[in-house]
Amino acid sequence: MRLCELKPADTIGKEFECECGKTHKTPLKYADISADAIQKLPDVIKALGGTNAYLIADDNTMKAAGDAALSLLRKDGIKATAHLLGIEEGFERPEPTEQTLGNLVMGYDKNCDIIIGVGGGVVNDMGKLLSKLGHIPYVYIPTAPSMDGYVSDSSSVIYNGVKSSVPSKCPDALVCDTSILAKAPKKLILAGIGDMAAKLISVCEWRIGALVTGEYYCEEVAEIMRKYRRLVLDNAEAAVNGDEKAVRSIAEGLTLAGTAMTFAGVSRPASGVEHYYSHLWDMRCLAEKRQCELHGIQVGVGTLLALEKYEKLKEIKPDKNKAEKAALSFDRTAWERGVREYFGASADTVIKIEDREGKYSPGKVLARQKIIFDNWDKILQTVEEELIPAQQLRDLFIKIGHPTIAEEIGEDAETAFCHTGDIRDKYILSRLMYDIGER
Ligand SMILES: [Zn+2]
Ligand SMILES: [Zn+2]
Repeated sequence: MRLCELKPADTIGKEFECECGKTHKTPLKYADISADAIQKLPDVIKALGGTNAYLIADDNTMKAAGDAALSLLRKDGIKATAHLLGIEEGFERPEPTEQTLGNLVMGYDKNCDIIIGVGGGVVNDMGKLLSKLGHIPYVYIPTAPSMDGYVSDSSSVIYNGVKSSVPSKCPDALVCDTSILAKAPKKLILAGIGDMAAKLISVCEWRIGALVTGEYYCEEVAEIMRKYRRLVLDNAEAAVNGDEKAVRSIAEGLTLAGTAMTFAGVSRPASGVEHYYSHLWDMRCLAEKRQCELHGIQVGVGTLLALEKYEKLKEIKPDKNKAEKAALSFDRTAWERGVREYFGASADTVIKIEDREGKYSPGKVLARQKIIFDNWDKILQTVEEELIPAQQLRDLFIKIGHPTIAEEIGEDAETAFCHTGDIRDKYILSRLMYDIGER
């Protein structure tokens, strides 16, 4: 059986020996993605040995599912206390900051023996982190199909001003009630569609990364993402109209995106340059103290921007001499100045990342250039095989009401693109453009 034929529940408790050389498995112990899944919550908690639950939510998600979860637990004799994540003044949602985590830790009930997160990405990230710190089981109840971190083992948090991926605990159980999800605000459903559209770019860049840097790649895992990306985009219109079956496809895709990352041991299957736009915009918002757009929407816009860039890449005839000259004339001082201008307070962290990785060091760039020029046709073929025309996605986004340009979400695209190559070590389009002297 191919991995892409598995439903989330089929991945539990099994090991898959794969041609890529890895044995793929997930630490997830339970996954139910169905209407009325929440009704089984007390059984799930008991099966994990829980008797006293610490439930994390925010104001909105408490109403969407937290209250129902609490009453189901109490009816079954399971103790439960709720902690609502604070929302800073001027913001609509809690932010994944040190402040939010600190607040949660201070309110932590040390007698609890299980954590339940009820809500979106930030609630889940906090739950995953807290259960790792407390060494107790964690159950996640999503309230919207809005992002793909359901069952990943990392959290996206703002750490020292930089959006970072921090190792966390994968939820032990996913209780995903699709009748709750289908009632989520339309915007949150659009966000989930954006986060699944992203898999166009992430899979493409995973293959390019493997070609250029020799990093690990698994075709079976990549195929899971292709399948669900197609399914979600094909049913996007029905999903935004609250069709439960279409919403369930998004939820399954988002869940499997997390599983795919666990299978691969890297975030490659689910995240490429489109996610880097999002990380940068988040950092800018934090620095400027304004509410950022939903992750999935940012990523959807980033996907469209990346598709346009890849279309331009296909037109470029890279020039070896020009590329070499550009690599050798890397001006560290000018680069640092640009980083300081763009990143402000978090520039030091970004500069430290470069000190550690030497992404721009001419020797490394020249070595990659050789591979790139020898394999240019293969790179273009990968782009051709993996991507769809930007116009096709733009038409769909317009039809369903998903933003299509950065300005629509109050962000800048061009400067952000250049800096996408600065924040982490993943090989993405902006790095490739730099390596061929075209950035
Ligand atoms: Zn594999
Ligand atoms: Zn994402």
